[in-house]
Amino acid sequence: MKPVIALVGRPNVGKSTLFNRLTKSRDAIVADFAGLTRDRHYGDGRLGDREFIVIDTGGFEPDSSTGIVKEMAKQTKQALAEADAVIFVVDIRLGLSAHDSDIARYLRSVNKRVHLAVNKAEGMVESPLLAEFHELGMGEPHPISSAHGQGIRSLLDAVLEPFEDTSEEFGAGPQQDGVIRLAVAGRPNVGKSTLINTWLGEERLVAFDMPGTTRDAIAVDFERNGQKFKLIDTAGLRRKGKVFEAIEKFSVVKTLQAIADAHVVLLLLDATQGVTDQDAHIAGYILDSGRAVVLAVNKWDAVDSYQRETLKRQIEQRLAFLKFAPVHQISALKRQGLSALWNAMADAYASAYRKMTTPVLTRLIQEAVEHQQPKRAGLSRPKLRYAHQGGQNPPIVVIHGNALEGVTEVYKRYLEGRIRAHYKLVGTPLKIELRSSK
Ligand code: GDP
Ligand code: GDP
Repeated sequence: MKPVIALVGRPNVGKSTLFNRLTKSRDAIVADFAGLTRDRHYGDGRLGDREFIVIDTGGFEPDSSTGIVKEMAKQTKQALAEADAVIFVVDIRLGLSAHDSDIARYLRSVNKRVHLAVNKAEGMVESPLLAEFHELGMGEPHPISSAHGQGIRSLLDAVLEPFEDTSEEFGAGPQQDGVIRLAVAGRPNVGKSTLINTWLGEERLVAFDMPGTTRDAIAVDFERNGQKFKLIDTAGLRRKGKVFEAIEKFSVVKTLQAIADAHVVLLLLDATQGVTDQDAHIAGYILDSGRAVVLAVNKWDAVDSYQRETLKRQIEQRLAFLKFAPVHQISALKRQGLSALWNAMADAYASAYRKMTTPVLTRLIQEAVEHQQPKRAGLSRPKLRYAHQGGQNPPIVVIHGNALEGVTEVYKRYLEGRIRAHYKLVGTPLKIELRSSK
């Protein structure tokens, strides 16, 4: 499991700036997608090959008892409950405030490892101003500059140090051993437990328990048409004997951990509700993760043809950034559409791990250029020379050449389309990286 780091501190100390810096490595995949909900408070972070989840909390004022601030405090408390470590952010330019001391007192009571980050300290690593923060009793202050990226690595080294032993598990996501690790994601009430229980009741599906799993843990192995699946711990569900049931509380952290742990994510939507903000958020997290994804619109039995048309349009518009994902209409209750869904999940997995060789990729790129040249940018025309595969799940294609900074987004999408068509990629993002050798 990835460690979860919560960022806590009063407003304006630089938490969002730090959040963006810690999670920015992912933006490379995300940047080009229109319509992606941007106001994220949860993100995947990475330092070297160590991965973690970051939660940005609202500005935290522990003693406030009214309105929105109270609501923020509640959220912060939930974030803290879910966190493995806390970064307490203060502002060197404003100095220590009574608020900071209140927060420190509260943090001591929650019994989590807290690291004190003194932000806005660009060029002030040795500053005597740091000393006053010792008073908070939170250990050695780490001077950082979120805006300029200073001190971040050594702060993270300290934060992640206790979690290092399991770093192999983080790395490039789950290992491949012929078993498709499947996460079923979706907000409460879309039908996750109904679907899983239907699966368990299907005759063509062999379900068996792992010995030694704890009673509440959800890890069920399925086999279908000779393909093994492992349903991994899915947020918002609990196991009671042989059946799964929904629990009230929805946890973004659990969802993120399940996504991180999966090869393929099945995102369930509720046809009777349309595409909600929360659906779009979860979809955004899945896109961020780079995992393969299949969309299933559940409760298709309960909507009329007008609603069906509306839904199709909503998915195209609100989830445009997931347009590589196949969309299936299903009814978990009536057992409709489930066969096709299994095939889609297996196809998405195969796509995410498709092997692409350098000669084939290079030929594809050259044919693409022959068919349509990239536009001239300034004096030079980008020259695409060869390509190799730079990663899997998601597949990454690295294209080498000259003057590639002039390749437009439109042209990149054109290349992506050709590569997708050749390799029949469905249900997986495809990342294209351009490397110019001057
Ligand atoms: P939050 O309310 O704690 O999330 O704070 P923000 O991230 O929104 O930052 C508040 C202000 O501080 C913004 O104007 C940022 O540009 C600024 N800021 C954030 N980090 C730094 C930093 O490292 N150095 C300086 N000088 N300003 C920063
Ligand atoms: P979860 O919170 O995502 O696990 O959702 P549940 O599986 O508990 O389902 C929520 C509600 O939707 C229950 O009342 C289910 O009976 C209902 N439901 C689930 N799947 C379907 C379906 O395919 N069609 C219809 N009409 N109702 C469904």
